[in-house]
Amino acid sequence: MGLCVLCEGKNEFWFGALCSNCRRVKHFISIYGDRVYEVLDSVLSRTEDKQKLKEAEEIKKEIQNKEHNLRSSKKKLLEKV
Ligand SMILES: [Zn+2]
Repeated sequence: MGLCVLCEGKNEFWFGALCSNCRRVKHFISIYGDRVYEVLDSVLSRTEDKQKLKEAEEIKKEIQNKEHNLRSSKKKLLEKV
């Protein structure tokens, strides 16, 4: 057991300084070269965009709910008068 130099996780590794997962990454890099970084960039930044979109969607929903609650409480208030 030890720390992998790449992910610094506590994964078990058999030899060298990389865990089995990072060894696979290294393997991909040796096969695909820069393509690996391009893929990581495009996939992970796209995921980030989606997360931001989702967050924006949640905020929108929350605002709509608040507006709805405001409207119904106003209505109730008016009904009492
Ligand atoms: Zn690792």
